[in-house]
Amino acid sequence: MKRLIKNGTLLLPGGRQKANLLLEGGRIAQIGTEEFEADQVVDAEGCFVLPGFIDPHTHLELSPDHFGRDTEAAALGGCTSVLEFANQFRGESMMQGFEKWMDWAIDSTVNYGFHMSLSAWDEAHLRELDKMDEVGVASYKMYMVYDDLRVNDGEIYGALRGIRAHGGILGVHCENWDLLKVITEEVYRSGITSAEGHPLSRPVPVEAEAVARFLRIAQLAESPAYVVHLSSREGLEEIRRARARGQEVYVETCPQYLLLTDDCYNREDGVKYMMSPPLRKAKDTAALWEALAAGEIDTVGTDHCSFPLADRLAHRDDFRKVPNGCAGLQHRGQLLYTYGVCENRITLEQMVSVLSAHPARIFGVSDRGELVPGKAADVVVWDPSYRGIITDTNHHHACDSSVYAGFAVKGRARDVFINGAQVVENGELIRSGGGRYLRCGPGLHYRETQK
Ligand SMILES: [Zn+2]
Repeated sequence: MKRLIKNGTLLLPGGRQKANLLLEGGRIAQIGTEEFEADQVVDAEGCFVLPGFIDPHTHLELSPDHFGRDTEAAALGGCTSVLEFANQFRGESMMQGFEKWMDWAIDSTVNYGFHMSLSAWDEAHLRELDKMDEVGVASYKMYMVYDDLRVNDGEIYGALRGIRAHGGILGVHCENWDLLKVITEEVYRSGITSAEGHPLSRPVPVEAEAVARFLRIAQLAESPAYVVHLSSREGLEEIRRARARGQEVYVETCPQYLLLTDDCYNREDGVKYMMSPPLRKAKDTAALWEALAAGEIDTVGTDHCSFPLADRLAHRDDFRKVPNGCAGLQHRGQLLYTYGVCENRITLEQMVSVLSAHPARIFGVSDRGELVPGKAADVVVWDPSYRGIITDTNHHHACDSSVYAGFAVKGRARDVFINGAQVVENGELIRSGGGRYLRCGPGLHYRETQK
């Protein structure tokens, strides 16, 4: 079946062009100004035609039906692929984690690849990297936090060395666990037990110190490094320092760190906003927007996870026990478009880079991320004329709240094609399931030239 998307403004790697796009056999077949023959024609007059968004940071296994409903929400937002964290828990092999996540992902509507989260590093891990190459896992994550996942600095060093040799990349959750545990108890014992205690318990230096330490370890390991969910200006300054001394550093932030501040914790429903790292100050969001505009931030991921509000409210008097994380998979493109592009903080081209092209390159999703003939047909027809307001319930996430409730939005994914099949039509989901496993390979580490 041939599908023609005509009259749209295409965001191509070389710039914008008003042109027609022909999809055939799950691929982008042709791009040009001629009217290609097709079985189905989609008129994209007045719309932008964008490469499908790739979310580099999701925790779908925490959703009630794992990859089911939340990947439908992703598709509705123009996100056509997710890179999910599969966990290797202590005592398990990476392969065991991989197989578990492959089972969970079976219902996915969008394409899915995996980063492997490592809870340790030793000779067995090093040996297993060959097997991971074979199954298409090339990126990894380590946590400096959480008792069941945290690793020590030596393990991070070892992993960086091992992964580097395979052309892969390691992302690290940067917060100082020993410090934040002590400070958390101090805050709680001082009588601040509600959500207001959360940002006080994980202050900016807890992140900035950990970012600086991770990047010094990467310097020693002579390895590229990826900082996940950067939240603070001081953390950003540590990244600038590492880059100034010649290091290859990739940086991700999230819509929540660009758009929300720690005032949210003083609200009645403050527990809704509990995530780690916590929301920061306006000076931090401003610094992150500037860094995005300056090309210093490479990707915007969601850190998506769906927790029912009741699970959070149950612990409203003890912030230490509230599950951390928020749902955002459906809204990432819309928020970046509204508050980035429409407010002239970033260009539409930059939005496409951070949502599609960069994650594809960094994580070796070589077949996607750009509108180029021959690549997989993951395409979004973006209607800039749409206007709406996000509420706690008018989204498709498997979650009964939204940290973006009350946010006005402009633009939406009107039509979405995944592997050439139409999944969203006029903003409605018309097809569920069918997402494919993405074999990732060595990344195209475009910041290498900085060295
Ligand atoms: Zn995360």
